[in-house]
Amino acid sequence: MSIAQNLETVRRRLPTGVRLVAVSKTHPVEALQEAYSAGQRAFGENKVQELLQKQPLMPRDVEWHLIGHLQTNKVRQVLPHVCMIHSVDSERLLVAIDREAQRISRTVDCLLQVHIAQEDTKFGLSVDELRQLLNGDIPSQLRNVRLVGLMGMATFTDDQHQVGGEFRRLRALFDEVRRQHTDALPHFTELSMGMSHDYPLAVAAGSTMVRVGSLIFGARSYGAQP
Ligand SMILES: *Cc1c(COP(=O)(O)O)cnc(C)c1O
Repeated sequence: MSIAQNLETVRRRLPTGVRLVAVSKTHPVEALQEAYSAGQRAFGENKVQELLQKQPLMPRDVEWHLIGHLQTNKVRQVLPHVCMIHSVDSERLLVAIDREAQRISRTVDCLLQVHIAQEDTKFGLSVDELRQLLNGDIPSQLRNVRLVGLMGMATFTDDQHQVGGEFRRLRALFDEVRRQHTDALPHFTELSMGMSHDYPLAVAAGSTMVRVGSLIFGARSYGAQP
């Protein structure tokens, strides 16, 4: 199957209103160009360096989504090139992004990453940390960051019941935040959840944005050149 056909297969399974971020990490720019030719505009990368290498080689209207852990000291490099950061997992990072966005006079959309999986290896705020952050002073002080929603990753398991449950809990948390912070967070509309192996479950639980890589581009071979 070609990349264009794979994209079509995924798109057909997404209800209207659910956006597809094509996760192109480890894949060469030619693969991204093929997806672009098939109409794909939103691409997700998990490493700053790789995003910065590919960005100048792709058309200007590509929307770059940073989906991997971001270190504060890389904010400055990546900020001019991203439209959305899915992986904000601390107040400190949020403040650093806002400060840098002010400095270069642009606005960036951010999602708060919440830890919903049972594994310890995944980054993200705990539910308590998320509530604390949102109830604190920071959200109302942000000038150039728009907090647009939440992101989460389910446990990597074949247990559909568990994965579905994790996605539903994140959706409930998202709804809670929207109810409680309606005035403070007017743009809070995105729930980024669902990857190649679990996006149908995520969509069923109310995802608004899926991040799909290997189903579109094929299996990743680490060590490949961008
Ligand atoms: C790699 C990655 C994806 C996509 O994974 P696939 O299984 O290839 O679809 C989605 N989200 C994040 C945060 C990732 O790092």
